[in-house]
Amino acid sequence: MKQYNVGIIGATGMVGQRFATLLENHPWFNVKLLAASPRSKGKTYEEAAGSRWAMTTPMPESMKNMVLYDATADINEIASQVDFVFCAVDMKKDEIKALEEAYAKAECPVVSNNSAHRFTDDVPMVVPEINPDHIEIIKSQRERLGTKKGFIAVKSNCSIQSYVPALHPLRKFGIKNVLACTYQAISGAGKTFETWPEMVDNLIPYIGGEEEKSEQEPLKVWGTIENGKIVKAQTPNITTQCLRVPVSNGHTAAVFVTFENKPTKEEILQCWKEFAGVPQELELPHAPKQFLNYFEENDRPQAKLDRDMEGGMAVSIGRLREDTQYDYKFVCLSHNTLRGAAGGAVLLAELLAAKGYFD
Ligand code: NAP
Repeated sequence: MKQYNVGIIGATGMVGQRFATLLENHPWFNVKLLAASPRSKGKTYEEAAGSRWAMTTPMPESMKNMVLYDATADINEIASQVDFVFCAVDMKKDEIKALEEAYAKAECPVVSNNSAHRFTDDVPMVVPEINPDHIEIIKSQRERLGTKKGFIAVKSNCSIQSYVPALHPLRKFGIKNVLACTYQAISGAGKTFETWPEMVDNLIPYIGGEEEKSEQEPLKVWGTIENGKIVKAQTPNITTQCLRVPVSNGHTAAVFVTFENKPTKEEILQCWKEFAGVPQELELPHAPKQFLNYFEENDRPQAKLDRDMEGGMAVSIGRLREDTQYDYKFVCLSHNTLRGAAGGAVLLAELLAAKGYFD
């Protein structure tokens, strides 16, 4: 496989640190440069991020002495040195939109963790096992941007990455209504228990904007490409409640679902067991071998025990049973900063690389 030079925009942040760790020994992607805010410009990575390093593995040796660029002021210099960038920055939505378009227009593709472009209708929002074909919209996006190589591709919000994968193989039974309550880890807010001590022994029943994203994003992921736009799916009806819980990593969802044609429990388990997507077929480096993993034990999945399954890229499911108001209910879990953030973006970049979008 060809090698690609990459940059990490927002390298000092929680997701940026994950990118750095995941890319340290990547077989295809070589981290060439790091960028963050003007506050970090000119500092080494160790100086800028060492004191807030939140990963369990140390900062990669090869990156410690890299001198940080300013993500906005140095766009052209960055674009001239890399084949594409990963982007995860904490800025205002319109600033992120402009920043990502500026990279794309400088012919530097952007694989983004940010939500700013998720509903731009020619920007693919991809969970690689579910809607890999949406990357074909990039042709239309390049026409709009007037670029040959540059484009923006995004991953979806972390909250939907546990229950949408579990529901996806069941769509053939006609999913009508979904109720999902999510129990979301503090790393999803870029925090640890050290930086957010108020979360110890606590629960906050509100995460700004999360319920809207959790209800709307699945419909774009399940949408279709029509006349150069991604048109959202009309069904299922989804309602959610999103809670912040005292867990370091791992978003859990309690899901209730009703079907047009109610499957048996065995049929659902069979669908989960057999489901594999394009990342598995192509054997992409970060593709889990078994994407959906069902536990028979009543007390699983548990965030602490199961979030790291297959490098944090697999989804775990448990407690499938019939319900008195919906057809079925179950619980599922995914690692929010791996599958739900940096890992999901790396897998998307691997899909794009394998399909030639960075050449
Ligand atoms: P974070 O830990 O607060 O890090 C923010 C990053 O943005 C830092 O590198 C910071 O650089 C940089 N930044 C801030 N202002 C900037 C500016 N004006 N120009 C350039 N860079 C700037 O945030 P995070 O949790 O990593 O989240 C980053 C993005 O990913 C957000 O859009 C978030 O919604 C999204 N996301 C996060 C998660 C998650 O699980 N945490 C999941 C999915 C998506 P300095 O260090 O120089 O300030």
